[in-house]
Amino acid sequence: MSKTIKKVGVLTSGGDSPGMNAAIRSVVRTCAYHNIECVGIYRGYQGMIEGDFIEMGARSVHNIINKGGTILKSARSKEFRTPEGRKKAFDELTKVGVDALVIIGGDGSFTGAEIFNQEYGFPVMGIPGTIDNDIYGTSHTLGYDTALNTVVECIDKIRDTASSHNRLFFVEVMGRDAGHIALNAGIGGGAEEILIPEAELGLERLLESLQKSKATGKSSSIVVIAEGDKIGKNVFELKDFVEANLPEYDIRVSVLGHMQRGGAPSCYDRVLASRLGVKAVESLIEGKSNFMVGMLNDEVTLTPLLQAIKGESVIDRELLRVSEIMSI
Ligand code: ATP
Repeated sequence: MSKTIKKVGVLTSGGDSPGMNAAIRSVVRTCAYHNIECVGIYRGYQGMIEGDFIEMGARSVHNIINKGGTILKSARSKEFRTPEGRKKAFDELTKVGVDALVIIGGDGSFTGAEIFNQEYGFPVMGIPGTIDNDIYGTSHTLGYDTALNTVVECIDKIRDTASSHNRLFFVEVMGRDAGHIALNAGIGGGAEEILIPEAELGLERLLESLQKSKATGKSSSIVVIAEGDKIGKNVFELKDFVEANLPEYDIRVSVLGHMQRGGAPSCYDRVLASRLGVKAVESLIEGKSNFMVGMLNDEVTLTPLLQAIKGESVIDRELLRVSEIMSI
């Protein structure tokens, strides 16, 4: 029989993403709803080691659902990777009576939670927060939908200038290991070609496709490229390569960068965060531990943390076909 949870700690860790605040709010309010205390932990695992805590009640999270970033700050902690660091963290939590944790972050943060649980039997629940959507066990991570909308808005603006000057634009978007953002925002933004790590387009095919576009009367084009695409060249080298081979093209590069991680969360991300936060706290109350709360087929689900860490979030191959048909 698991012991009753009395005080939940909540932290954000790894890269920030829009919707993290909405998830903090949901965790805090679900605790209040069930008469459980809640403690906010600043700066992820580093704040846990240093005892950088704040008591949080229902009113302490008002006016944050609409804000990007994370009010608890995020950090990467080298010290938490060591047994000594984790011991310090355990001692600090014990001092204030925190007896369960909700970790909002990516797979690295979940790995830390899993190890912490193994060492101290500490109940942990993960909420996936990263714009890349590269976590197994959920169709959407917090911030992904907002990032897609941001990227599509940027592509729309770039399209205005591309078509006014008959130019080809290479737009680089985030996604080191996964092409979810590039593929979906590329389709949503009407890109001619989409280059992602999961599908090897190849330089020759890219040239062919661009030549075909010119021949069929397209005067301007947008190519969306995931930063992790394995075509073997960075986006600026790719521009030089294409210009050398297709001198008829005047190419500009736009690297969207960190603007994709910021901004007010979309409605989808706010609702997602609210639902995942409720499930995370209520699962802890039910005595569950070592799960990631996710969304599959519009249902809130639990995936064992180890599976979420080790599993691969695959892209939808049908989307590749849709994109090919759309760019005829
Ligand atoms: P993002 O997707 O934005 O990179 P993430 O959660 O994967 O988010 P990481 O930097 O990989 O980000 O991990 C966040 C923190 O989790 C690390 O700074 C470290 O404190 C902790 N962590 C990661 N891996 C381990 C590990 N093997 N052992 C202990 N702690 C870890």
